[in-house]
Amino acid sequence: MHTNILKGKTALVTGSTSGIGLGIARSLAAAGANIVVNGFGDNAEIKALRTAMEQEFGIQTSYSNADMSKPEQIASMMEEAAQQFGGIDILVNNAGIQHVANIEDFPVEKWDAIIAINLTSAFHTTRLALPGMKAKNWGRIINLASVHGLVASAQKSAYVAAKHGLVGFTKTTALETAHTGITCNAICPGWVLTPLVQKQVDARAEKEGISNEAAKKSLLAEKQPSGEFVTPEQLGALALFFCSDAANQVRGVAWNMDGGWVAQ
Ligand code: NAD
Repeated sequence: MHTNILKGKTALVTGSTSGIGLGIARSLAAAGANIVVNGFGDNAEIKALRTAMEQEFGIQTSYSNADMSKPEQIASMMEEAAQQFGGIDILVNNAGIQHVANIEDFPVEKWDAIIAINLTSAFHTTRLALPGMKAKNWGRIINLASVHGLVASAQKSAYVAAKHGLVGFTKTTALETAHTGITCNAICPGWVLTPLVQKQVDARAEKEGISNEAAKKSLLAEKQPSGEFVTPEQLGALALFFCSDAANQVRGVAWNMDGGWVAQ
């Protein structure tokens, strides 16, 4: 249905070497977009995932190892992308980290890192992408928030604060671009089985002395009524919808895809 609707466009997906970011990058690439890959990881694996997208979808990719907690590295990444592809048409602010602890035990440097990577980096990429998008009068900004941008869980203070902040930032961006061809929306996933969540599964298995499979089931049972993980491919399809003409008037929403988590 969406074949090649993004041909000639360029998408920067922060944190696209793994998990949800990679799923979204592949969906946008499948629709014809060139992809600026960002994130950490093994060089050979990153090369392989880029080559796979280039060969499967006939698009171009580039890679930046910019650290999303470093504004000057974000600025260099945006400049390199503009030079190589003539600007960013689709910006997906996805890079994120998690740390789980009670507030009084929460390491200060973890708080700072989560706010910098999960929230402030989106301000920097957005402020640097907007002039180019405004010049073309077209753009899509998609912020990977979370159900934790809508509701809270204990022991995730920094993450919940950052994701609520990101939902607020999404709304302001949508209002400031409301008279243009640029839209900004947030996606709010429930549990997705990525390395970020696998760590929480492992911690639960160890703490409760249960198997990995049992830990996954108990994690889901607590919050996600469907009892099933959301997948990166499903989130990629939602991102692609936000990029389509059908979504021209979808502006400033925080769309949960969460197996019913927030309906409770
Ligand atoms: P992941 O750990 O699989 O991937 C995170 C990506 O971000 C990786 O590519 C990693 O290299 C990159 N990254 C981390 N720190 C970075 C930094 N400082 N600079 C640049 N890149 C950095 O995690 P994921 O589960 O795919 O999470 C992606 C996004 O989705 C995050 O914002 C997360 O909060 C959000 N999210 C995840 C879930 C879930 O259940 N997995 C649910 C809701 C929201």
